[in-house]
Amino acid sequence: MTSREDQEKEAERIFLSIGLAQKTAETAASKKKFRGELLEIIREAGLDGGCDRAQGALLYTSASTFPDNARSHRPHFVQEYISTGKLKSSDQLDAAFKLLSSYGEQPVDWSKLEEAAGIGVVVTPAQITEAVANVVKANEAQLLADRYHMNVGKLLAAVKASLKWADGAKVKQELDGQILQLLGPKTEQDLVKPDKKKAKEKKPAKENGAVTAKNAETKAEDTEAWRHADPYAFFPSPADNNKVHTTVSFSDGTQLRIANSAEKLAEHLKVTGGKVVTRFPPEPNGYLHIGHAKAMFVDFGFAERYSGDCYLRFDDTNPEAEKQEYIDHIQDIVAWLGYKPWKVTYSSDYFAELHEFAVQLIKSGNAYVDHQTADEIKAYREERRPSPWRDRPIEESLQLFEDMRRGVIDEGKATLRMRMDPKNDNYNMFDLIAYRIKFTPHPHAGDAWCIYPSYDYTHCLVDALENITHSLCTLEFESRRASYFWLLHVLDTYKPVVWEYARLNITHNVLSKRKLNRLVTDGFVHGWDDPRLLTLAGLRRRGVTPQAIKNLCQEIGITRSDGEIHLHKLDHHIRADLDATSPRALAVLEPLRLVLTNLPTDHFQAFDAKVFPGRAEDTYPVSLTRVVYIAAEDFRDVDSKGYFALAPQKACMLKYAGIVTCTGFEKSGGKVTEVHAEFNPLKEGDKPPKGVLSWVGQPAAGQEPTMFEARLYDVLFKTSSVADTGDEWLDDLNPGSLTVKTGAVSTPRITQAAPGTRFQLERLGYFCVDPDTTPSKLVLNRTCTLKETNLAALKGK
Ligand code: ATP
Ligand code: MG
Repeated sequence: MTSREDQEKEAERIFLSIGLAQKTAETAASKKKFRGELLEIIREAGLDGGCDRAQGALLYTSASTFPDNARSHRPHFVQEYISTGKLKSSDQLDAAFKLLSSYGEQPVDWSKLEEAAGIGVVVTPAQITEAVANVVKANEAQLLADRYHMNVGKLLAAVKASLKWADGAKVKQELDGQILQLLGPKTEQDLVKPDKKKAKEKKPAKENGAVTAKNAETKAEDTEAWRHADPYAFFPSPADNNKVHTTVSFSDGTQLRIANSAEKLAEHLKVTGGKVVTRFPPEPNGYLHIGHAKAMFVDFGFAERYSGDCYLRFDDTNPEAEKQEYIDHIQDIVAWLGYKPWKVTYSSDYFAELHEFAVQLIKSGNAYVDHQTADEIKAYREERRPSPWRDRPIEESLQLFEDMRRGVIDEGKATLRMRMDPKNDNYNMFDLIAYRIKFTPHPHAGDAWCIYPSYDYTHCLVDALENITHSLCTLEFESRRASYFWLLHVLDTYKPVVWEYARLNITHNVLSKRKLNRLVTDGFVHGWDDPRLLTLAGLRRRGVTPQAIKNLCQEIGITRSDGEIHLHKLDHHIRADLDATSPRALAVLEPLRLVLTNLPTDHFQAFDAKVFPGRAEDTYPVSLTRVVYIAAEDFRDVDSKGYFALAPQKACMLKYAGIVTCTGFEKSGGKVTEVHAEFNPLKEGDKPPKGVLSWVGQPAAGQEPTMFEARLYDVLFKTSSVADTGDEWLDDLNPGSLTVKTGAVSTPRITQAAPGTRFQLERLGYFCVDPDTTPSKLVLNRTCTLKETNLAALKGK
């Protein structure tokens, strides 16, 4: 038996041999279930000896999105189409999977599949060039007017419509190239958000301006398979919702196969017009975290993909834990991520209908009023014994339920329970509670009710009332399918498709509102939006873009395999997105005074520094004065081999300005306090010194630069998988998760920026202006460092 580590290593080796990128291979190998799936599919394809990258990417996508219901066709499919290279693109894969899932385990007509997936269709580069040229020509006027703000997605779709089986990445590359040819490189204006264009003219890019516009260059480089895979392709269409959803087995040996009747489905389709309808159903009992971003990616993303509708539904059945503050925050953060709910609803909007259903349940003998205490219910459940009140007369339950509603029965003295199957193997069928008494006002419904429905009772019924086509939730709800469908069955309502996916977990973090609440309430962090948390509010404050979060979700896809995503993966997407959009600036976190002794005291000279070095010509001014500041770590009083920064008698470049040659230094209490040097411009033809220093000059001769506070973050938890038991997880907290540097300096370009503005401070990382900033104090959060290697400290911990 090999150890887990060996298995992962071996899997990683095989994944690399099919051309996956190092990171992708590593993550795939670390996720147990996914690893198994991918290894199996590689074996089925007979490609364990390796294959090219394109085939590898197709196998990778197949491992997570091959339709579950058609599994027996998988070996034939991968051998016949992927191993032979007949199927070339992820679009073809999507089309094939769609057809396969409609066959399920029935025999497949392979010629139909080949037709549907365009097998054998050859698209030449010349055809792509021509199709792109046609679309660019047809949209030329709009392209010239909107320039890089034009929706490229629309153009791509137009090309694909005329050339269905063209490779998406190649089309994108060609399109970007032709657009570049037409418009020329991006200007500063192209980087500013369109609606704010006028207001921002000539000003440095502020709040979100420079950061939300996407840069075409990085997009063109993105050929990673995940970008082109369609994570939603495998969900059935709303019209197909007449299959058996679930089979509920009862303790008396009977079985209930639950499906929509033709009549119910027709009624439903009449209301929705066949559209996809989903819901994102947070309980407003805390702030949302990155796991909820995955849920939104699934719920909103799937509806968007098929031009359907997604509700934002507050699942608010527990007034004790819920607050208006959370409701407001959730709406705000959903909008920040860029999702637009079709409607905002509350489960409590349906309290009247839910009450009606409860009366109906009692009348049909499917619910009864119970008087057992919570402890008694628990003890009876353990012994699988029915409640002594289970068979009381219907009339009595009706009257008591009415008394509960009128507030004449005390809290804890009665509940309404569903009459399910107390001896069932599935504890979710043990006569779940439908209603409890709580004399607590409700943040949304006010004090209209003193009985509140339970989650299990409410969720499925509101799904049915809102005509949800796909009720998508996380895996822990899988065992609740039985009760979900039982209730819809006995009330004879329409039934949505229910599908469960894995929760998102990220290493070095906790993602549960309960734990996050504890960290906030007990002061381990400074509020729900502390940038060390993976709450969406924390990520926003830290400077992370919504696009980076969505890209992460797109890459991990919608799978049922549990596992932890490494924090590196999130950082990778943050960097990739910020690199394209964050203007650069020079700054020094721990300044050391450098006196340029050959310059007069009133010397002031402006140099042009690059906003996007090596990528665009845009510049911003930096001022060279007799006194400038360099990083303390960039000077050593004794030089050594392999050290390129400043030391006595040594020369370095002051970036964008010229050469400084160190002539001396002052020391006090063992610490270097000042360095002396001579400044000389770099003459044409001279070889510049190897060491290049970041530096900050005085805004005017003799005037000190404004200092700012830099908040640098490390992981919140030392351990990669945070302990789960009792309070032990709190012991895993990293005491060094926050470092504050108060005396940092930068150019005025930064010191005047508004909260939310993002920059790359050269060599130091990506930063974002924190809302703690006041006119007299600038605070910057480091969103992330420039390279993953800087996070090496994380490894092995
Ligand atoms: P938590 O355990 O963090 O409190 P929750 O499940 O109680 O989360 P809800 O507000 O009920 O939070 O969740 C709203 C939706 O988000 C649900 O569909 C839930 O399944 C989903 N969700 C919650 N956490 C995650 C996660 N880590 N990954 C993916 N989806 C999640
Ligand atoms: Mg919940």
